[in-house]
Amino acid sequence: MPGSFLTTRLEAMLGWGRSYSLFQYPFITACCGMEYMSAACAHFDMDRFGAGLTRFSPRQADMLLVVGTITHKLAPVLKTVYDQMVEPRWVVAFGACTVSGGIYDNYAVVQGIDRIIPVDVYIPGCPPRPETVLDGLIKLQEKIKREGKDWRWKRTSS
Ligand code: SF4
Repeated sequence: MPGSFLTTRLEAMLGWGRSYSLFQYPFITACCGMEYMSAACAHFDMDRFGAGLTRFSPRQADMLLVVGTITHKLAPVLKTVYDQMVEPRWVVAFGACTVSGGIYDNYAVVQGIDRIIPVDVYIPGCPPRPETVLDGLIKLQEKIKREGKDWRWKRTSS
């Protein structure tokens, strides 16, 4: 309306903008990928949440979606992809295998990707339903809004 104005904090504005312009890097290794496709396609449509565009270069992505079983052999690749992403960046563990190793409680599988890289949101399920994926995405957006400009410069992977 003419003559009206809006006040906010810079942190709140940055957080709001970032939360609705997520560029995802899907790191898909196993069967959870089918549910990722369901969540991303037209019926559930992640694009409604500003997270529809995939980037297959880590340097162009700010949300790493880790989808499927991560073996110890694959772990260094995941770590390299994470290290190549610039700040601010966020990580989503998609499905039981990435959260905890899932049904693969054995020597070959990483028992949770948070042993390799920091995780912002955990999405449970084997596989998670698309509604659960969208719920995880909304939780990540809420977290990004709260972070504002105080993102994770200090938080580096080990
Ligand atoms: S959580 Fe279940 S569906 Fe997903 S990758 Fe692991 S075994 Fe497959």
